[in-house]
Amino acid sequence: ATALTLSAVSKRYDSGLQALGEIDLSLQPGEFVSIVGPSGCGKSTLLRIIAGLMAPSGGSYQRPQGIETAFVFQDAALLPWRTILDNAQLLMELEGYPRSEYQARARTALQRVGLAGFESAYPHQLSGGMRMRLSLARALALQPQLLLLDEPLAAVDELTRDVLQEELSQLWQAAGFTAVLVTHNVHEAVYLSNRVVVMSPRPGRILDVIDVPFAFP
Ligand code: ADP
Ligand code: ADP
Repeated sequence: ATALTLSAVSKRYDSGLQALGEIDLSLQPGEFVSIVGPSGCGKSTLLRIIAGLMAPSGGSYQRPQGIETAFVFQDAALLPWRTILDNAQLLMELEGYPRSEYQARARTALQRVGLAGFESAYPHQLSGGMRMRLSLARALALQPQLLLLDEPLAAVDELTRDVLQEELSQLWQAAGFTAVLVTHNVHEAVYLSNRVVVMSPRPGRILDVIDVPFAFP
């Protein structure tokens, strides 16, 4: 597995706004990196570039060919007319996996996030924390090498957040994907990641990169 490398990556939107200055960042396979910084400093912009959803306007970005990438957003973005199982298998369906495979993988992913038994339920029957678990299961079912998380826990209450942070940490340790988390919560960043990237705004730049010693092996 090779690293993902951004070299002097910048982004200017069509509006003329310079969202990112020159970003140099390398992501090693299997590491968990958090991006923190004030609103508008370009965290989401950087994540969209890492995801390959948007091209930088300057610099270069190397990512391994064919790397399976999954996204988890703050808004769980579930399809209300589909059951929990059908939601969990959505990304694999879109990728053209055979039904026999995606059903089994979706069931396994639901078990891993603690949603076994809810396969036939619908999203409105789940609590906020459970919806976020489902969103995580949908991403994990894809068995991504790269998992991108944009403020996934911002909308859940504090107690649920603590539980989900611990679960996310365990899932990462078990599955070995590379994770990039955008968060406003410095405690969350330090708890989950082995590196914290601190950004400053206008234009978005990396102010500091902090290595976190592993306190939770
Ligand atoms: P953060 O995630 O840190 O809050 P963003 O990456 O969302 O920051 O935004 C960085 C800057 O780019 C902000 O000033 C924002 O208003 C601007 N921006 C974000 N998306 C667009 C867009 N599609 N077009 C123009 N400007 C944008
Ligand atoms: P929140 O309501 O704050 O989003 P949770 O996702 O932790 O919090 O779920 C709240 C309640 O939903 C729990 O107290 C529990 O009763 C129920 N619940 C959550 N996950 C499960 C599960 N895997 N199995 C059964 N019940 C669950």
